[in-house]
Amino acid sequence: MLNGARDQQTICAVSTPAGYGGISVIRLTGAKSYEFISKISTKLPLSPTSHHVYLTKIKDEKNQIVDEVLVTFFQQGHSFTGEEVVEISCHGNPQICESIIARLILLGARAADRGEFTYRAFMNNRLDLVQAESVLSLIEGQSKTSRQLALRQLQGELSQKINEIEDKLTWSLAHLEAGIDFSTEGLEVISDDVLFQTVEWIRSHLQALVSSYIQGKILKDGFKVALVGLPNAGKSSLLNFFVGENKAIVTPIAGTTRDLVEGQILYNGVLIRFIDTAGLRTQTADEIEMMGIARSRETILDADLNIFIFDLTRGISQDDRNELKLLRPDKLLLLGNKSDLIANGSEKMVQEIQKLGENQSLNAAPFGMINKFSEADKELILQRIFEFSMAGQVESHALVSHLRHFEGLNKALQSVVEAQSESLRGMGAEFVAIPLKEALLRIQEVLGKHFDDQVLDRVFKEFCLGK
Ligand code: GDP
Repeated sequence: MLNGARDQQTICAVSTPAGYGGISVIRLTGAKSYEFISKISTKLPLSPTSHHVYLTKIKDEKNQIVDEVLVTFFQQGHSFTGEEVVEISCHGNPQICESIIARLILLGARAADRGEFTYRAFMNNRLDLVQAESVLSLIEGQSKTSRQLALRQLQGELSQKINEIEDKLTWSLAHLEAGIDFSTEGLEVISDDVLFQTVEWIRSHLQALVSSYIQGKILKDGFKVALVGLPNAGKSSLLNFFVGENKAIVTPIAGTTRDLVEGQILYNGVLIRFIDTAGLRTQTADEIEMMGIARSRETILDADLNIFIFDLTRGISQDDRNELKLLRPDKLLLLGNKSDLIANGSEKMVQEIQKLGENQSLNAAPFGMINKFSEADKELILQRIFEFSMAGQVESHALVSHLRHFEGLNKALQSVVEAQSESLRGMGAEFVAIPLKEALLRIQEVLGKHFDDQVLDRVFKEFCLGK
């Protein structure tokens, strides 16, 4: 179901990263893939066998050997794209790749666009859009859990769930409409109870997918932890402590971290992203610092968890309390710092923070000295963060991790809820069918069964060349 002459062309691209390496792989897809490679090689069989590898030499236009390569042939219908595919494994030198690509283009092949191989797989029904997007997540996945999730999506776990919902929606709509047609004859096509139950099943399964988005996103993009607190509390020190390198500048002068500094670590397979925010003092004449503070506020809102750091030498100040009020209590961990500087009152301060935490049902981790944190302290804090990320639970059900899927499924959910309330209000089948049709359309958009070029552009432009 490829559309247009452009999609009929045979395309080629280097599929391995740019630069020198042991080997590079050039990929061709389209009806003339094997014809083109045969024309520039010394010997290849006339009728190759699918999934077989052939050793051959590639010649330039003057019949000089460019490289000795391995050619893997995939027959049409048995490849990633669904088309005839050839993969050329040549030596990993960019000039060799360039001369092979140049020869293929002179023969009539076209340089592939970003993601065009996956696009073709989608257009040839080898993958739905949800699976196509998971290919990208699999390539870009920075943690084991994100790659596992992407692989599960590529293998169709999420698509299957969405297809199931689509089936039930189609079934409900078919029965509703048949009911409308036969209503004048007084025939009941299906009992209202069965229909209600099915629509409720659809609603609850959509709800579960929509609710899984936050966790799916954490697994895919990592768990964002914003380090928050008044200037000099110890945010940069804590970031450096976790990341193990001098990412953030640590100085005793308030307002040093003017912009956001991020450091990442992998803990139990989850990517934890620490973001050091600019000190949150509102009184500053420095324009750049003000901009930093504004960005900090955005980061804090967007973060999955905020760690609020107190400078114990200053006690719990009114500024601290004011700042705390702006943070979501369910996404907050309190941490007292610099207990070494308040030798006599440290216990009292720690208790005070604990009390503050308990009063407001906050989670307190009132450790003493970031400067002197041990590996055991690190483990304790990471464990707390990990508990927050909920990523410890290995999810056996389908998870939504892409914003596009979340938006589409959420709209579908709202339409189904609307259909339920129409039905409860005693509205006729016609009125119930309208929002259900809307929900069906949204679901089909997520799967790519209905799409417009803008959506496809948005999805595939994120890809790298050769994929
Ligand atoms: P930020 O402005 O919140 O990022 O704070 P910094 O991490 O830059 O720390 C401010 C100052 O406090 C620096 O001079 C740090 O060395 C110091 N500091 C951080 N943690 C501790 C601690 O546990 N004890 C002591 N004595 N000093 C600390």
